[in-house]
Amino acid sequence: TINAEGLNKSFGHRQVLNDISFRVATGEMVALIGPSGSGKSTLLRHLVGLTCGNRTQGGRVSLMGREVQASGRLRRAARIERCRTGYIFQQFNLVGRLSVLTNVLVGQLGSMSRLRALCGRFTDQERQRARACLARVGLEELIDQRANTLSGGQMQRVAIARVLMQDAELILADEPIASLDPRSAREVMEILSRIHAEDGRTVVVTLHQVDIARRYCHRAVALKDGRLYFDGPINELTDERLQALYENADLDEL
Ligand code: ATP
Ligand code: MG
Repeated sequence: TINAEGLNKSFGHRQVLNDISFRVATGEMVALIGPSGSGKSTLLRHLVGLTCGNRTQGGRVSLMGREVQASGRLRRAARIERCRTGYIFQQFNLVGRLSVLTNVLVGQLGSMSRLRALCGRFTDQERQRARACLARVGLEELIDQRANTLSGGQMQRVAIARVLMQDAELILADEPIASLDPRSAREVMEILSRIHAEDGRTVVVTLHQVDIARRYCHRAVALKDGRLYFDGPINELTDERLQALYENADLDEL
């Protein structure tokens, strides 16, 4: 599903990604880990070309078999592949003054649908589907509530329902639980894990907590100073390796 080869990225003189290559097969659930500043978010954003005008400096990315970037140019096909890639952010990125249901409805068509959302133009069928997506994340009762009145955990579940509405094949989640209390964090991970298991979606999730990564992901990709430090079954990530990755941080706190 993801094939990244030789990705490099610098901001000014700082090289943030250094020759990163990895593949993710369809149906995997992969944890992307590493210390703060190691390049996890930059890497995830690069996969879908969300790079704030900064281009990749060398390397190739293909998603679902289609090349998205070659030598820094975002291909036209990228737009299509991006629609099939759901992105979940730490800060939820909902439209606060719109209802929960509308936030989910805008998932399906990318930016154009936001206009339609403001005009309230959705078919009954679309609304039905959005309700079903909300039911899957346990929020069917809150469909008419404004998004900015929800708790953090609820907002993140709306964001997941939006990705479901989008029918994304690939879900990229950047620290989806970093702003949540432990219980909401667990709920969000359970939901992601269920979508992965039941719908066969491919999930790449950046996490700070290694114990959570261990519980939900079978494979870890670890970055350190912009380089690939580890890529393999997460149970091969020994305490020694972790200690070296996080530079002797207290392992109990990870
Ligand atoms: P965290 O765990 O704290 O989220 P991260 O692993 O996601 O960290 P990135 O956000 O990818 O790390 O950042 C990697 C490095 O790139 C950091 O040193 C950061 O300062 C730098 N960086 C990221 N985006 C930009 C940008 N737009 N301009 C300049 N530097 C940037
Ligand atoms: Mg980050």
